[in-house]
Amino acid sequence: MPQIPQLSLRASRSKRFLFSLSGLLLSTCTQPQSNPSSTSVSKPISLTIPTDRPAFSADSAYAHIQRQLSFGMRIPGTSSHKTTGDWIVATLKRYGASVHEQVGTFKGTPVRNIIGSFGPKEGKRVFLSAHWDSRPFADQDPEKPREPVPGANDGASGVAVLLELARLFSQKPLPYAVDIIFWDAEDLGREGVEDSYCLGSQYWISSPQPYPRESYVWGIHLDMVGARGAAFLQEGYSRKYAPRLVETLWQLAQQLGYGQLFPALPTEPIIDDSYYLSARGGIPVVNIIQRDPLGRSFFPEWHTTRDDMSVIHKPTLQAVGELLVAFLYATTPEQTPPQ
Ligand SMILES: [Zn+2]
Repeated sequence: MPQIPQLSLRASRSKRFLFSLSGLLLSTCTQPQSNPSSTSVSKPISLTIPTDRPAFSADSAYAHIQRQLSFGMRIPGTSSHKTTGDWIVATLKRYGASVHEQVGTFKGTPVRNIIGSFGPKEGKRVFLSAHWDSRPFADQDPEKPREPVPGANDGASGVAVLLELARLFSQKPLPYAVDIIFWDAEDLGREGVEDSYCLGSQYWISSPQPYPRESYVWGIHLDMVGARGAAFLQEGYSRKYAPRLVETLWQLAQQLGYGQLFPALPTEPIIDDSYYLSARGGIPVVNIIQRDPLGRSFFPEWHTTRDDMSVIHKPTLQAVGELLVAFLYATTPEQTPPQ
């Protein structure tokens, strides 16, 4: 079992860590007012997992990661980024989604958010999301810090799991509205430069959207969900903004036999897309993101040139996918209040 870190000693080398000491929170990006890790967590909602739920395929998700990497680096403004975006749109459409693209410029960077909608147009909705861009510089790589990050786990894994879910939605539609949202320009940030990460989600919050923000009951965000040896701890802002949903998902993981991958342990808040969507967008979001079990980093190849297919482990993709399938087919937005 991983241990709960008392203090993240390597916070200074991380892009998005906060660490807490005697109630004081520091961040490279922003200064929250209170310590979200200390928020008490609600009781989980008990759900019956339907036996007729569709089967998630890690093989399919794995192939989706390979495909994304085959296009090259997904750096905004490049032709390989455009090709990847076009492929994501085509794949969503193939699985029956109505696709809306939010294209523009935010803080001087071209942004292309891709939204695939399933189910009713009216009423309450939920979203599932991941970022689809990759980082232009491997600043955690001691040998090649100026080269781009292939982003097999950091970016492509989340996209792949969601595209496989889209296939399942086309096979067995959910009885409620769900949007799969791929955020662009998440990983262009510079350490210490406030709000330089997560440009796509910041742009979405500040622009007109196909569905009103108030219609989203909750969201689940994925990042780095495909590596060997992953541990998904309960991220601090998720515990603050969607505590009941956190407890429900982690309990469900336990029920499915994935307790080791999803230890019910809190970890520091992280500034990423889910933070902007929750704290600034007003939508409670659960962030499923790999953490070093000691809470000091994400995964060993994070922001290096070694974040390639060799990092990817099908059983991790399978566990995350199965958890989402079990949850999504067991519930409706009305049944699962996030708080
Ligand atoms: Zn990253």
